Amino acid sequence: MSNTADVIIIGAGVHGASLAFHLAERGVKSLILEKNFIGAGATGRSSGMVRMHYDVRQDSELAWVSFGYFKNWAERIGGESGFTRTGFLQLVAREHEDTLRLNTTMNQEIGIPTFLISADDVKRLAPSFVTDDFDIAAYEPESGYADPNTTTASLINAAKDKGARILQDCTATGIIVESGKVKGVNTSQGDFFAPVVVNAAGPWADTLNTMVGLNLPYTTWRHDIMFVGRPKEMVPDHPAAIDFPNEMYFRPETGGLTLVGLEDGNPLGDSPDGDTDYATKGFVERAIERICRRIPHMELGHLHTAHGGYDGLTPDQHPLLGQAGPEGFYLQCGMSGTGFKIAPAIGLCMSELILDGESKTVDISIYRPQRFEEGEEIKGNYVSIWH
Ligand SMILES: Cc1cc2nc3c(=O)[nH]c(=O)nc-3n(C[C@H](O)[C@H](O)[C@H](O)COP(=O)(O)OP(=O)(O)OC[C@H]3O[C@@H](n4cnc5c(N)ncnc54)[C@H](O)[C@@H]3O)c2cc1C
Repeated sequence: MSNTADVIIIGAGVHGASLAFHLAERGVKSLILEKNFIGAGATGRSSGMVRMHYDVRQDSELAWVSFGYFKNWAERIGGESGFTRTGFLQLVAREHEDTLRLNTTMNQEIGIPTFLISADDVKRLAPSFVTDDFDIAAYEPESGYADPNTTTASLINAAKDKGARILQDCTATGIIVESGKVKGVNTSQGDFFAPVVVNAAGPWADTLNTMVGLNLPYTTWRHDIMFVGRPKEMVPDHPAAIDFPNEMYFRPETGGLTLVGLEDGNPLGDSPDGDTDYATKGFVERAIERICRRIPHMELGHLHTAHGGYDGLTPDQHPLLGQAGPEGFYLQCGMSGTGFKIAPAIGLCMSELILDGESKTVDISIYRPQRFEEGEEIKGNYVSIWH
């Protein structure tokens, strides 16, 4: 294999894959270096929720552009993403209704199919849900979930068909910099050279940033999820939901299962190499108690499995996107637990930034890595209830 490329991407998660695909569409040949295997990081543990409701316009725009891919995956990318439409509900306590209205209006302005519905409407859509702790909800009838591994594999296959290459079991151990410019990457399989290197290493990204002298605020976020089998008494399916009053989200999964994750109690700063085969002690009990609050019938269900995962986290829980450090060094990391659904659009925007000097599809300048030193952290309307 040649040891040169137009662009070297470190990390074969959904973000490295999406960037490689979009660069390949523009005729740019990238080399993806992956220390383990495709989807070995956050991507392979992801819950795969695909919805557009956000409280920052650019987040919603990225999710909306990405949704166009998920809906037409075979035509746009080839292969499959496993997108399954379930409908999505954003549930909030009465005190957050004004914020919900603001966000829904903002999302509608972008063109996202979303509207406010009453608690009675929610009961009709999801008869098993308790609906007495809120009056309105935002509903996205077209949203759902996708399969992160399938999504990533098909992006990489499509990129390879257009000239990208991937090396698995290949750890980036150093960034080669000369006269302030990136020249390549030292790896466990030798040195590779390119004028552009992109850090898409997810929860491990800080190690690579440090290699080029970048000292950005960055930590890890651990997140556990469980799958429970729905009891026969429950209607066969239910919509996906973010349930802010219970600090939880959940969605249906094939085989009569429901996936549950919690917004609180996610440890920060652990090593991303920690054990993810099992959920953290105490998580399953807390998650069962929460899901039974919203869906009491779940008391008759059963635990299927539970596991954990790590993502890269920034102080404002938004990604780092853009150039930083030596010339030619770019960041596409810090997805802060919400990076799967927006990966198609971010890969496109990053390819525009790298090749054209700016991103036109969505203006991603608010995510520039320098924003923390500039005092320009991103703030959303829900800032007071995020953890
Ligand atoms: C449990 C869980 C549930 C989630 N649920 C959702 C959800 O429902 N919806 C949503 O939108 N988002 C969700 N997320 C977030 C989303 O999954 C992540 O933001 C996204 O997958 C991050 O992708 P990535 O490519 O940036 O990182 P990763 O998938 O972590 O990929 C980084 C890759 O870099 C490789 N790497 C690291 N260091 C090196 C090195 N030195 N050399 C070579 N390779 C290296 C790693 O092996 C890894 O494969 C969830 C995350 C977790 C953990």
